[in-house]
Amino acid sequence: MYKEKIDQYIDSQKEQMVEDLKSLVRIDSQKTEAKPGKPFGEGAASVLEAGIRLMERAGLSTRNYENYVIVGDLYPEKEKQLDILAHLDVVPVSEDWTVTAPFDPKVVDGKIYGRGTADDKGPAIAALYAMKAVKDLEIPLKKGVRLILGSDEECGSSDLEYYYGQEKEAPMSFTPDADFPLINLEKGALHKTFEASFEEGKELPRILSVDGGLKVNVVPGKAVAVVEGISKDLLVAAANEAEQEQHVQIQWEEAEGKTKIEVKGVSAHASTPDQGVNAVTALLKLLQKLPFAPCAGVEKLNRVLSLFPHGETDGTSLGVKMEDEISGALTMNLGIFHFEPTHLEGMFDSRIPVCGNDENMTKVVTKVLEENGFAVESGMMSQPHYVDPSSDLVQKLLACFEAYTGIQGQPLAIGGGTYVHHLKNGVAFGCAMPGVDNAMHGDNEFMELDTLFMSAKIFANAIVALCGVEEEK
Ligand SMILES: [Zn+2]
Repeated sequence: MYKEKIDQYIDSQKEQMVEDLKSLVRIDSQKTEAKPGKPFGEGAASVLEAGIRLMERAGLSTRNYENYVIVGDLYPEKEKQLDILAHLDVVPVSEDWTVTAPFDPKVVDGKIYGRGTADDKGPAIAALYAMKAVKDLEIPLKKGVRLILGSDEECGSSDLEYYYGQEKEAPMSFTPDADFPLINLEKGALHKTFEASFEEGKELPRILSVDGGLKVNVVPGKAVAVVEGISKDLLVAAANEAEQEQHVQIQWEEAEGKTKIEVKGVSAHASTPDQGVNAVTALLKLLQKLPFAPCAGVEKLNRVLSLFPHGETDGTSLGVKMEDEISGALTMNLGIFHFEPTHLEGMFDSRIPVCGNDENMTKVVTKVLEENGFAVESGMMSQPHYVDPSSDLVQKLLACFEAYTGIQGQPLAIGGGTYVHHLKNGVAFGCAMPGVDNAMHGDNEFMELDTLFMSAKIFANAIVALCGVEEEK
């Protein structure tokens, strides 16, 4: 019944929405060194200041939580029903932007380009205007709504930890910081370091070093080994075989009797390791084909490969292959690896379906690694997050999405974690449309303007649906 009014209202605000989004994108809000009263640095504090001015202009009651988050309330005098969470910090930028500079927003062909347009300043503006619409249209909500804009989502969400250290969760929450239609299941995660020390093998041929991976949550796209005393013929034969079998590219160069071998695989996010080709495990497999003099180090490298075989991404060899219908299969990624003649260290990232727990996951992996002679870092897994798909929250949000897109959306399960991972009744809702790659975290990040405006409309309808409306007097 309010849909038409909301549509007209948002249509009348399009220009101002774009201007407001541009004003936020112009602020470089990457995390920097903490300053007194500015826990995430200057840029983060100034973007919050700009955000709170926009909230005030929209007629919300605002509060700044010591530059961790800002909040804006609609109907603050009423019992709170809904929190909408978005964030104004951004990830680093590269030199490779071509459409425009990352902090100089530009509209081209119906898309606005700039760092943060999709993640997450655009969605924050859509949520703000959704609240402004409800306010200006004087829709008499039964219960209150709060917009929470944080400034440390990209570096661990300590902003929310601070906020929820003093405030209660609303009965329902959503974050427009991912994809439409809706994400109701986020797998659990286990990141662990394992290591071993051993006696140096001095006999030739031998392995001097192996290195690969920069971040545990990324499938390593490159790995490098330095070996000594291996003949060129043997290396050529092994490299040819590896290139064919393992879908990698191999290069090497010789200098001062040593050979540097470089393997190029395909990098991917650790939550979808089957989309990548792990250069570290490919390199270990290549090394295994070469006749190195037996020593403890070589033996340990072979054990690593036997636990993280090249091409295996489901944890079978660590004894934790598992899956369930709602979340899919467990994933395993050896993300970082380092070997030197007396020591090796690896770090893996596993994403765990809701059927997983510390008993059938953490304990099992630790035991298998220890039995193979590795010391394993202690610590428990991060628990999966799941909201019932038949709940009021999920059903009403999906209905609002369907009303605008005609798409009967199914809730999604993902391996990554969103801003609401630790909230009991929170889901991710928007703003990337299915099939659109908005280059979030990459170069030339953009948001389609139609998606921005439609998201604001969807969110305004969602607020009305979730908070309810007073009977007319
Ligand atoms: Zn984000």
